[in-house]
Amino acid sequence: MTSSKLPDHLHRDTLAVRVGVERSQYGENSEALYLTSSFVQPDAETARKRFANEEEGYTYTRVGNPTVSTMEQRLAALEGTEAAMATSSGMAAVLLLGMGLLRSGDHVVCSQSVFGSTLRLFAGEFAKFGVETTFVSQTDVAQWRAAMRPNTKLLFAETPTNPLTDICDIAALAAVAHEAGAVLAVDNCFCTPALQRPTLFGADFVIHSGTKYLDGQGRVMAGAICCSQKYVNDVFWPINRTVGMVLSPFNAWVVTKGMETLALRMKAQCDNALALASWLQEQPQVARVYYPGLTTHPQYDLAMRQQSGLGGAVVSFDVCATAAEQARRRAFHVIDSTQVCSITTNLGDTKTTIAHPATTSHGRLTEDQRQAAGIGQGLIRMAVGLDHIDDLKADLTRGLQQLSTLQ
Ligand SMILES: *Cc1c(COP(=O)(O)O)cnc(C)c1O
Repeated sequence: MTSSKLPDHLHRDTLAVRVGVERSQYGENSEALYLTSSFVQPDAETARKRFANEEEGYTYTRVGNPTVSTMEQRLAALEGTEAAMATSSGMAAVLLLGMGLLRSGDHVVCSQSVFGSTLRLFAGEFAKFGVETTFVSQTDVAQWRAAMRPNTKLLFAETPTNPLTDICDIAALAAVAHEAGAVLAVDNCFCTPALQRPTLFGADFVIHSGTKYLDGQGRVMAGAICCSQKYVNDVFWPINRTVGMVLSPFNAWVVTKGMETLALRMKAQCDNALALASWLQEQPQVARVYYPGLTTHPQYDLAMRQQSGLGGAVVSFDVCATAAEQARRRAFHVIDSTQVCSITTNLGDTKTTIAHPATTSHGRLTEDQRQAAGIGQGLIRMAVGLDHIDDLKADLTRGLQQLSTLQ
């Protein structure tokens, strides 16, 4: 199904609320939700043609669904790619990327600071099928270059990282990939196309967890790969219709409606995050703040260039402490003293979340691995939502001010 014709050269704000809609005979203004597993065929001959791919037309939702198609077209329009392939989750998108691009004997170079499940997918699951991955520094391009081999097919990056917000130089990594005849995929979950469009810097594939800011209200799981139409048609769609990591139409509909307010939410949440990060920097009980929007961030200039001048909505900080055990007690105290923030590791929600990475998202690492990653026991990560900034400050002040009275 192709979408209704829109004028050329519309602004992205308009695309975010218009792209990918084909109205049914009822003329609904809001996008219809086609919650159906199969589609009735007008006659046996048409069914034959559609199943043989000789004629366009929906047959079965694992193969295609109009609501999912709306979500794909809208995300592609925002990312600035020709097409997008929706998946059941962000991790399904990374798996589909690997299934589409890699075969036994291939080699991958990946940042060592990517999302934990992505790390395990490359290091564990892909390794079982004969794909080897070298993990390198997020920020040192020379390490990426040095890791390249004749059989390197894919470079995989994520920027900014969770929870320390390290930035990688997408243009530099794209150059390393392309010089070697490889491709670059960037997980754009933290910035979303509202802030950062990796293909503008040379990335070939953009990965999304729609579960985060695209939905934006913490309701559904979703994922996508944004890329050329050719890759969707020839590589990812044929695999996904077979393996079935497809996005549910209901979840696609929720994400589509979420994307309508994405730019507004991201702007407001980034403003909140910058205000909170600046305030945290001045608190005597805070040792260090990690936020790309602060001029003290080691890659501030790169972040501003790549991220439309905004720092994102994730802020991390270390509480002051002299030893690991004390740091953990203090971090727990600050977290447990909040009354507004949600104690959960999810991010991308309108509700501000607070978490202790060392014992949750990064709890499966060994202490040595955590030390190497710079994730200490005193580290707290916040994914700033739409709560009022004064309420967030008050929520943290409660615990921070009591730290001097703790052991
Ligand atoms: C959450 C997340 C994923 C995985 O997405 P799911 O939808 O949870 O499968 C991948 N990358 C990043 C950066 C994430 O934050």
